[in-house]
Amino acid sequence: MPPVAGLTTGQASRLAEEAVSRCREIARITDVPGETTRTFLSDGMRRANAVVSAWMQQAGCAVRMDAAGNLRGTLPGNGSDARTFVLASHLDTVPNAGAFDGVLGITMALALASSIGPGTLPFDLELIAFSEEEGVRFGFPFIGSRALAGTLDTEMLARHDAQGVSVREALVRYGLDPEQLTSAQIQQALGYLEFHIEQGPALESEGLPLGVVETIAGQSRLLITFTGAANHAGTTPMHLRKDALCAAAEWIAEVERVALNNRALVATCGSIQAVPNAGNVIAGEVRVSLDVRSALDLVRTQAVQDLCEAANRIAGKRGLSVDAKPLLQQEAVPLDRNLLRLLEDAVDAAGTPIRRMVSGAGHDAMVLAPHMPAAMLFLRTPGGLSHHPEENVASTDVALALQVGDIFLRDLAKQEAAR
Ligand SMILES: [Zn+2]
Repeated sequence: MPPVAGLTTGQASRLAEEAVSRCREIARITDVPGETTRTFLSDGMRRANAVVSAWMQQAGCAVRMDAAGNLRGTLPGNGSDARTFVLASHLDTVPNAGAFDGVLGITMALALASSIGPGTLPFDLELIAFSEEEGVRFGFPFIGSRALAGTLDTEMLARHDAQGVSVREALVRYGLDPEQLTSAQIQQALGYLEFHIEQGPALESEGLPLGVVETIAGQSRLLITFTGAANHAGTTPMHLRKDALCAAAEWIAEVERVALNNRALVATCGSIQAVPNAGNVIAGEVRVSLDVRSALDLVRTQAVQDLCEAANRIAGKRGLSVDAKPLLQQEAVPLDRNLLRLLEDAVDAAGTPIRRMVSGAGHDAMVLAPHMPAAMLFLRTPGGLSHHPEENVASTDVALALQVGDIFLRDLAKQEAAR
């Protein structure tokens, strides 16, 4: 790569420190005093939107809120390309969150917009703070990015929160018009880039600051139910039992063994319910969750099939029955090859090693990738800790990622000009 006129190291580190301190400032805006919790269309989100809106204006953006509550700031380009390039992440949080999940992607986008300035790039830059990604209030995620993709349907709008308020009613109460949701859809997008903390330990364990996401893993979620016979824990001889909890335990160990022997997947049994769940009763029924993720759909579906067969084998050997109910099948989402290459070139030009990654978590980029070219850059997460108040990021990593983002946008501008 030729040297690129862009951010100097000094500028990048000043912008990074500001981006980090802005995350800390936003973290103090909360629905629940004493912690950081902001859910879709809450009072905390209204206050956070006001602060981010002012920052967008300072950066030279024209700001609006769309009908799904996404805050959108447009930094005009020089007018030679009518399309828009999106820099985005989410402003909502999980309960008792850290300061950086989602918000860092927004404050980094602000840093890039303010350093690039209006009238510089051939295309407009659109900064988006998504109103909802975590799925906390309504039990399903990505409301903000689904509105952009045009996949927020009437069934979703009718879903209720714990207070019985529907998504549609919540929008109206916030002062938005659900009839205008189609106007939130994005047109003529040149592409999408999201900066996000890794939320895992891989980069830190390898001593690397940044990761280029090539694929967002597919997921299978199932509910496995072992049915045996409940009976007295004192009077039933061991060889005459049909213990559903022992069958489940044997199978859970098999899930771990299969996943340990295949580096291309992860598998988790995160939830278990025994019936009747009493210390002096043999469990007659046990329900176990199964979550399998992989970048390779064939690997994932084969593992699910093997684990269902293992459950059948274990249940059969013990005289029990087993049922496997599929709850979610989500295919892996590859990110855009052209943007991936540009991002890798920018990482290389910034002088740091290229590390391709699979994202095991879902992100807004996953929702938008089928509708526009999408890319993601991960930042090392100290301790791999996320969805936790002590979540952190190194401002030196943020500075490096800003340099990468700046190089990426300038290279994209050159690429589009050469078309
Ligand atoms: Zn996030």
